[in-house]
Amino acid sequence: MKPMWLSLKNIKKSYLNGKRVIQVLRGVSLEIEQGEKLAIVGPSGSGKTTLLNIMGTLDRPDEGELFFENKALDWSDEELLSSIRREKLGFVFQFYHLMPELNVNENIILPAMMAGWAKSRIEDRAEELLERLGLSDKRESKVYSLSGGERQRVAIARAIFLYPQILLADEPTGNLDADSAKEVIQLFLELNEYQGLTLVLVTHNLEIARKMDKVYLLKEGSLVEL
Ligand code: ADP
Ligand code: MG
Repeated sequence: MKPMWLSLKNIKKSYLNGKRVIQVLRGVSLEIEQGEKLAIVGPSGSGKTTLLNIMGTLDRPDEGELFFENKALDWSDEELLSSIRREKLGFVFQFYHLMPELNVNENIILPAMMAGWAKSRIEDRAEELLERLGLSDKRESKVYSLSGGERQRVAIARAIFLYPQILLADEPTGNLDADSAKEVIQLFLELNEYQGLTLVLVTHNLEIARKMDKVYLLKEGSLVEL
């Protein structure tokens, strides 16, 4: 059996909207093995982003526990949380969240600069990823001059720069045309297959979701495997 890399036990999360309490997650449990690829689908507002943000330690549950490599996460340990985010997790968003005024190379090396990598190591890794993601001839281009598909590839390069174990992607193809979406998904599949990157993909698109090993539907605060 493969090691359980990330698991959630009975996660609950509510938000206060004016005077109304919205129970977004009503006890979600999920186990993700190392190297697995899974999709989460569900209607808009069903809590997919909330769930993904909790998996990424960007948001805290009201109740329940998160386990990384079978170890319960201590939410009060800020240093641990930031080291998990920086070293173990990669994030990809629908709207890329890149620095538009920086060029492609500058965007992708940011995490490594912040992590204090040596210059030569950063350059080698950037070279490898730009090549791998078909961005070599765009390395000096400002992000605002790129197409959506190119921007998302830059965002992926940045997300995987520090060799995360798991990639959390929130509607990564939501803003892309069909061809660019296909390319991005193909890239995810290759990263999973050849580098063992664990994938959690939130998507509206059931056809894309079906390319993963497992598909979960988030509905009325609960997850069901489809
Ligand atoms: P999805 O990603 O599936 O569209 P979200 O997780 O973004 O759903 O949101 C689920 C519900 O929680 C929505 O009703 C949304 O309005 C609400 N919500 C999300 N984040 C917050 C927040 N920070 N404050 C208040 N309500 C929120
Ligand atoms: Mg969302």
